[in-house]
Amino acid sequence: MTIIKNLSSVTNRIENAALQANRSPADIQLLAVSKTWSAEKLRDAASAGLTAFGENYLQEALLKINHLQDLNLDWHFIGPIQSNKTKDIAQHFDWVQSVDRQKIAQRLATQRPKDKPPLNVCIQVNIDNEQTKSGVSDTNLFTLASNIDALEQLNLRGIMVIPSKTDNPEQQHATFHKAHTLYQKLAKTYPSIDTLSMGMSADMSAAIAEGSTMVRIGSALFGQRSTPTSTGQVN
Ligand SMILES: *Cc1c(COP(=O)(O)O)cnc(C)c1O
Repeated sequence: MTIIKNLSSVTNRIENAALQANRSPADIQLLAVSKTWSAEKLRDAASAGLTAFGENYLQEALLKINHLQDLNLDWHFIGPIQSNKTKDIAQHFDWVQSVDRQKIAQRLATQRPKDKPPLNVCIQVNIDNEQTKSGVSDTNLFTLASNIDALEQLNLRGIMVIPSKTDNPEQQHATFHKAHTLYQKLAKTYPSIDTLSMGMSADMSAAIAEGSTMVRIGSALFGQRSTPTSTGQVN
C-alpha cells in the first residue's frame, strides 16, 4: 500500500513543480530508482503504474530483470560502468544513463544485440566538477556526444547529472540551470536528444523548474534504503 501512497505524493510534487514553472507535467518522466529493493517490491510498484526502473548494481539488476520478464518494463542502468559490465548492460537494458567515456560507448555499441533496437544513451556530465564523481567534463561533452552519435547501435538521448550534495536551493537551481544550458546546446546539434535526466527525491522541484525531463526517484517512492553497498544488498 505504501507504494501507492508514495507514488501519488511524488506525482503531486512533479505536477506542482511543473505547473509553477509553466510546464506540462506530461513532459516530465518518472524513473523509479529501485536499487536495493527486491523484485517483489518492484512488482508492486509496477502494479501501481510505474513502468521505468533505474538500477545501479549490475548483478542485482540482472536478477530482477529476469524475475520480472513477464512485465513490460523499461530498464535504465544508472550506476558507474566498468568495461567488464558493458556486455550485460548492452544485452539486458533499454537505457544507460551513465556513459562518460568513449571506450565504454564503443563497447556498448559493439555488444548491443543486432535484433534489438539501439540502446538509448545519456551521457553523464560531472556538472559540479567534483574530483570523486563520474561523468565527463562539460568541455569534453561535445566530443563524446559526436562520437556516440556516430555509433549505429546507440541512440543518443541526452545527458544525466548528479549534482554535489547541497540543501541550498540557490545552488541547486544554479547547477541545474547550467545542465539545462548544455542540454539545449546539444539538442540543437542532435535531433535525437530529448532527455535531460536530473532531479532526485530531495531536489526534484528545483530540477523541474530548470527544465528536467526525467526525474530519478528512489527513497520518496520506496522508502529509506538501508546502507547501500556496492555488492547490491537487497532490502
Ligand atoms: C540512488 C540514485 C537516485 C535516487 O536517489 P533518491 O535520493 O533515493 O531519490 C537517483 N539517481 C542516481 C544516479 C542514484 O544512484
